[in-house]
Amino acid sequence: MYLKMAKRALLETDKRLVAKFMWLMGFKGLRSIMKHKARLKRGEIFPPFLYISVINSCNLRCQGCWVDVAAKQEKIDLDAMDNLLNQAKAMGNSFFGILGGEPFMHADLLEIFRRHPDAYFQVFTNGQFITDEVAKELRKLGNVTPLISIEGSEIVSDERRGGKGDVYSKSMEGIQNCVNNKLLTGVCTSLCQSNFDDLLQEAWVDRLIEMGVFYTWYHIYRVVGPEPNPQLALTPQQQYEARKFVVEMRAKKPIAIIDAYYDADGNALCPAATGFTHHISPYGDIEPCPVIQFAKESIYDERPLKDVFNESKFLSDFRDLAAEHTRGCIILERPDLLSDFAKKHDAKDTTVRNEAYQELDDLVSNPSQFNPGKEVPEKSWVYWLLKKYAFHDYGKYGKHFKLENWQPTIGPDGNALNPETKEPEQPLVQIKMGEEQA
Ligand code: SF4
Repeated sequence: MYLKMAKRALLETDKRLVAKFMWLMGFKGLRSIMKHKARLKRGEIFPPFLYISVINSCNLRCQGCWVDVAAKQEKIDLDAMDNLLNQAKAMGNSFFGILGGEPFMHADLLEIFRRHPDAYFQVFTNGQFITDEVAKELRKLGNVTPLISIEGSEIVSDERRGGKGDVYSKSMEGIQNCVNNKLLTGVCTSLCQSNFDDLLQEAWVDRLIEMGVFYTWYHIYRVVGPEPNPQLALTPQQQYEARKFVVEMRAKKPIAIIDAYYDADGNALCPAATGFTHHISPYGDIEPCPVIQFAKESIYDERPLKDVFNESKFLSDFRDLAAEHTRGCIILERPDLLSDFAKKHDAKDTTVRNEAYQELDDLVSNPSQFNPGKEVPEKSWVYWLLKKYAFHDYGKYGKHFKLENWQPTIGPDGNALNPETKEPEQPLVQIKMGEEQA
């Protein structure tokens, strides 16, 4: 597999772009992690990977989207982005995840990339604004990898994303424009009930390789936002199968497969709980992660960014809370704890719709990537080594997590468990934390 991957890198890419990736993301990315480790040793924290939502607007309306996409457009402007990126670069950061809304609706997006040639940007996009012309410009810049989301077949894509018959084709066209211009292109999917059987398939991975895509990323659907669609959530068994599939394909296919939920030995983790990453909203709020829409600090605070992160009691308490109760996703498993935590801190609801507290209180508990006893270690020594060095829990769970604190409410088969006894509930219903059974 490694030879096939090397052959692809040799024959299918623009060598200048590969060199830029190896330097900015490879060498400088690993160096930013070394600096992160050194800070942690000194009892300081500044996340080496920041995710920045540069704009709220989007042309699509996806199920489970948490962003105020239909609200008045708000974006982080050029000067504010310069200030944010320069301060983060001064801390040794070189990699930035760019989200939205739809980032390519930000009129100055390319100018942001142009002004920071010493940084590498992964853009989470629906691909529908990436014309051949835009792709040509991204190639010139060389410091951008587009990660284009495909959420199912034609029919499922329209259903999932609120489209009218062309969501899939338009996103695929964006992918084609990227690979035609030899961009290091990625495709991601938020795995859920409506696309699980279509996209967690070897045939789909082979299709991506044929198209010239260089990496893929299977996220797990998060039950969040104004229309959380809990019926789309995956069962623990499906999440286990997804993990096995990823590990198998990594050792077999000449395409990179990213994940942000497991260490080298297959232990689950939350990258926000470990302090590896945090999120900046389109309004400048500093949030634990994109789907946890609460904050106490902002990039517009009158303090150096390094102090804002280092001194944030809100973020520090969030990391401890998450790490104490699960190695998985706290907003999926324990929205009740998150609600109490946000209220205790009197945290700002960072949504324009101003419903984040109510949405959290209305959520039921759902399973996440933490599935004790079902750990699947990496098979590929490359991923194993990279994760051993760069992507693990940085000792967070060792200090905080106790299995007895974990309260699963959904069994492997997707049916409810009694949080106390952890035995299947009779009759089989979804339980809202704190509510008596029907
Ligand atoms: S809380 Fe959940 S969604 Fe947020 S970073 Fe952690 S695992 Fe991901």
